[in-house]
Amino acid sequence: MSATPQRTNLLGLPRAGLEAFVERLGSKPFRAKQLMAWIYKRGVGSFDEMTDLAKDFRAKLGELAEIRAPEIVSVHRSTDGTVKWLLRADASQAFEMVYIPETDRGTLCISSQVGCVLDCSFCSTGQQGFNRNLTAAEIVGQVWLAARELERDAQARAPVGPRDDEAKSLREGRIITNVVLMGMGEPLANFRNVVPALSVFLDDFGFDLSRRRVTLSTSGLVPQIYKLAEATNVALAVSLHAPDDELRNELVPINRKHPIAELLQACWHYLDEQNGRSVTFEYVMLEGVNDSPAQARALARLLKGHPAKVNLIPFNPFPGTRYRRSPTAIIQRFRDELLQRGVLATIRRTRGDDIDAACGQLAGRVIDRVTVRLGNKVIGVAVQA
Ligand code: SAH
Ligand code: SF4
Repeated sequence: MSATPQRTNLLGLPRAGLEAFVERLGSKPFRAKQLMAWIYKRGVGSFDEMTDLAKDFRAKLGELAEIRAPEIVSVHRSTDGTVKWLLRADASQAFEMVYIPETDRGTLCISSQVGCVLDCSFCSTGQQGFNRNLTAAEIVGQVWLAARELERDAQARAPVGPRDDEAKSLREGRIITNVVLMGMGEPLANFRNVVPALSVFLDDFGFDLSRRRVTLSTSGLVPQIYKLAEATNVALAVSLHAPDDELRNELVPINRKHPIAELLQACWHYLDEQNGRSVTFEYVMLEGVNDSPAQARALARLLKGHPAKVNLIPFNPFPGTRYRRSPTAIIQRFRDELLQRGVLATIRRTRGDDIDAACGQLAGRVIDRVTVRLGNKVIGVAVQA
């Protein structure tokens, strides 16, 4: 018996790759745009539905290609509208994705790896170790899947009528207005798969998101920030978390390799190259660790006069952590110290607390598989998330 050749998952191909693929199938490159319109504009997942493509081309696609998003293991809905999906990368690996609706936008927070090697001391993903990179198809597949799921939900709820905002945004295909790579993993440690995925997010025939609405968050892999400046122009967020190297070495260990001064140089270079407006610096508020007014002033000295915004993130505790969230008054004081020194600063609202859905809190889980055997024959697989 000959093995079935592996099908190419089209979700992993940016436009140029898809053009090359359809050419290999003996078709004209412009078919790639048609295919993308079906996949990304209409959310179609089966070639049979692509009625304006020739039958024999569809048959070939059916044989050699597929449109396959990660599988959903479970869905958790928060009372504030936040939705978290536990997804399955393969038989034993799970990762998470979160949708955060707000009045003027809908943000999807996606993962780039299962686990993370970088071991930041306050991060539950880091604490669980590294499993593997997600493929480009798994990264794009998250947005594709969420768009389909949310659209289905909204359609089920939306009353017919032009005044309903949700129905309107649905008709305009804009349930997901922003995508942030702030879920599990370090996107720049998976450059090879993240960059093609970004290109699908931005492509007119893909998700057609403006570059300001796609944000890559990194803990500071300096050489890759320079490489990123050559490859794309999405918004950059950097996890700073400390105003000095001594503390940052402890919180974000990659700082030992790429200290703050080098990191900031790379950030300003990225903005220069990409004509970007500003870099967002994420700063997780850890009680008694990095939240003093003196530390706020030190942070202001680092960033003052540069195109920078600070986003203060209330720490999300997880079982076994030694850190505590700074009290609200301390966070506000920290923000005010920055504002008084002319550094733009905001406090991130925590969302989806009841379902552990905050960005940076996505612990992921290795699925326990219990294989039920009868002699040598597998008779069932129980999956627990
Ligand atoms: N690896 C990338 C992106 C994923 S983490 C990075 O580090 O930037 C996304 C954001 O969540 C980062 O700013 C990260 O520092 C933050 N984060 C991690 N653990 C957190 C926690 N327990 N509470 C609040 N923010 C956290
Ligand atoms: Fe990895 Fe980011 Fe978590 Fe650090 S904060 S361990 S880089 S996912």
